[in-house]
Amino acid sequence: MDNLESYYQSRFAARTQRIQASTIREILKLTTQPGFISFAGGLPAADLFPIERIAEATQRILQAHGAQALQYSTTEGYLPLREWVAGRMPGATPEHVQIVSGSQQGLDLIGKVFIDPGSKVLVEAPTYLGALSAFNPYEPEYISVGMDEEGLQLDELEAALKAHHFKFMYVLPTFQNPSGRLMGLERRKAIVELARKYQTPILEDDAYAELYFSGKPLPTLYALDQELGGGNVVYLSTSSKTLAPGLRVAWVVGPKPVIQKIVYAKQGADLHTPTLNQMLVYELVRDGEWFQAQIGKIRHTYQTRRTWMLEALQKYMPEDIGWIVPEGGMFFWLTAPAQLDSLELLKQAVEEKMAFVPGQPFYADGSGKNTLRLSYSSASHEQIAEGIKRLGRAVHKMLGR
Ligand code: PMP
Repeated sequence: MDNLESYYQSRFAARTQRIQASTIREILKLTTQPGFISFAGGLPAADLFPIERIAEATQRILQAHGAQALQYSTTEGYLPLREWVAGRMPGATPEHVQIVSGSQQGLDLIGKVFIDPGSKVLVEAPTYLGALSAFNPYEPEYISVGMDEEGLQLDELEAALKAHHFKFMYVLPTFQNPSGRLMGLERRKAIVELARKYQTPILEDDAYAELYFSGKPLPTLYALDQELGGGNVVYLSTSSKTLAPGLRVAWVVGPKPVIQKIVYAKQGADLHTPTLNQMLVYELVRDGEWFQAQIGKIRHTYQTRRTWMLEALQKYMPEDIGWIVPEGGMFFWLTAPAQLDSLELLKQAVEEKMAFVPGQPFYADGSGKNTLRLSYSSASHEQIAEGIKRLGRAVHKMLGR
């Protein structure tokens, strides 16, 4: 056993080849140096975590229901929390709701339940990198569909739906990670209709559902599908962006046959989501007034940080760098001229002591080399102004100006 590397290499499953450390992760390790400004991590703002409220609620739960909170519980999840989730989804009952340990686990379980090697999965270009990581071990074949300002391009989508048999299409209609795009109402309706026409289930990832800066939330694809009879959307959302991601409490809402399989898959994965955390999330959200105020604080803070970043981009970026101004969520998405490779730009930016995430890994088809993602959710005004100034210097250098 002197060469552990090859000893284990020959024993790992073939699919494990698909689970790789990324170059970007290696580069981003440097960002912990003092004085470094990173817009790379998509971290919710820790200054808004309701720490005292969580401490009080934990006390209350442990005093009143300590044994229950610390005992094993059902795989499906804590019933009052499932009822609360179902109450927010048209046509859903608790039987349509599965509590999961983060929507990330929901993505993994859905991959496990749906994807065989070579199964086709339709994804947006770009799409959430974490979903690709969750699905990859199940060895799908991705078909990427391009996007415009409003979301998935309908003609391209229809051509793909006509040409292939998909296990499902994975869609992020609200403040997409990474691009920050908000899919408009007409586009939502059209996509739900097309999916039904071509009998392709939709997996709707709605992690940023609550993070609107202004205006009225648009109906979910799940709700629009319900109006047409339902049964074609599996919906995912989470408490990570409104309460705290460390609690790992999220939910899948979907047709009963799907939920049933997810229950069995989850049983094998972790039996259930931590009971105390589920009870805690319920204890927090059931006070609707408090929960709305908490979301209000997050919206206001992110909107302010978004505006600081917009002002800095307008000041420091050359004219040929484009971006989508996000109306919610946590991210700016930048598009540079085709010759600018954002992985090379990241190396230059790290020299300037700033970091972002290059866009290419968010594309299942390997395109998007000239794109990048900036997160403003956790940054101060000073960090944003200085960080974007540094990015501007790196961009100018790369473009030879
Ligand atoms: N989906 C999307 C689109 C996300 O951005 C994230 C968090 N980065 C997740 C799912 C996973 O979130 P969680 O597991 O914390 O619910």
